[in-house]
Amino acid sequence: MRVDLHTHSSRSDGTDTPAELVRKAAESGLTGVALTDHDATEGWAEAQDAADEVGIRLIKGIEISTVFEGVSVHLLGYEFDPTHPELVGELDRVITSRTERLPRLLDRLGEHGIEINAEEVLAVAGDAAAWGRPHVADAMIAKGYIADREEAFRDWLVPGKPGYVGRYSADLFDAISLVRAAGGKTVIAHAWARESKKKLTAEVLGELAAAGLGGIEVDHPDHDELARAELTKIADALGLAKTGSSDYHGTGKGHQFHLGANTTDPEQLARLLG
Ligand code: AMP
Ligand code: ZN
Ligand code: FE
Ligand code: FE
Repeated sequence: MRVDLHTHSSRSDGTDTPAELVRKAAESGLTGVALTDHDATEGWAEAQDAADEVGIRLIKGIEISTVFEGVSVHLLGYEFDPTHPELVGELDRVITSRTERLPRLLDRLGEHGIEINAEEVLAVAGDAAAWGRPHVADAMIAKGYIADREEAFRDWLVPGKPGYVGRYSADLFDAISLVRAAGGKTVIAHAWARESKKKLTAEVLGELAAAGLGGIEVDHPDHDELARAELTKIADALGLAKTGSSDYHGTGKGHQFHLGANTTDPEQLARLLG
């Protein structure tokens, strides 16, 4: 059994449609895959049809943009009711804020000689339910301003650079409660990647566990061996499930994020979802 618990389709900022993603998961030898688009569940139905066709297990998921003490934290949610009113309301706030920041972000790029309009971003975003900075990056690539998404995230679209505009995120503890209220399980995504490492100490992870957190994504391409070893100890001490995943985005991220780059132990999967 090989299960990858964190992937993105074109319904957010991945480049494969949900069906393509599931078919590729099966071809790469996975027996299960979770679709976890940013702040959106719109890809679930198409992914489920494809999973039924190719005979692998689909775990229906999401990656929610949350904030804890001013720092961005990504929360994976699994197997919850996607119509739960309070959860839907909170996800709507995040999606709306993603859309509302676009004109301001493009104005700022314009001040620095990057001329892109909203239609051009929405065109490259295709059928995405949640558009994000990677789509702005794609529009910049399409118009020849930059070579790849890497360059956008190095020189333009991050805090301190010209094309960064913040947006609304759900409170981390609220998001855990909402997913639980909707019948689902939660896992902190790439807990010690980027800036969240400073905030998500063993103590804070303990508070999150007490608040109903189900697991920690230990095996992620952005975690080195030391981070994985430390997070393993913390998860074991707290009785949390340890998951492994790729954070696959199709061609939108490097090869280290290939499908199945990390997988989740069946026992841990059962502990999380069982
Ligand atoms: P946003 O959803 O607008 O906040 O954009 C953040 C998303 O951009 C992350 O969730 C990643 O999927 C993606 N991302 C972050 N850094 C990079 C990078 N260096 N290259 C490609 N995609 C990235
Ligand atoms: Zn993404
Ligand atoms: Fe993430
Ligand atoms: Fe992700």
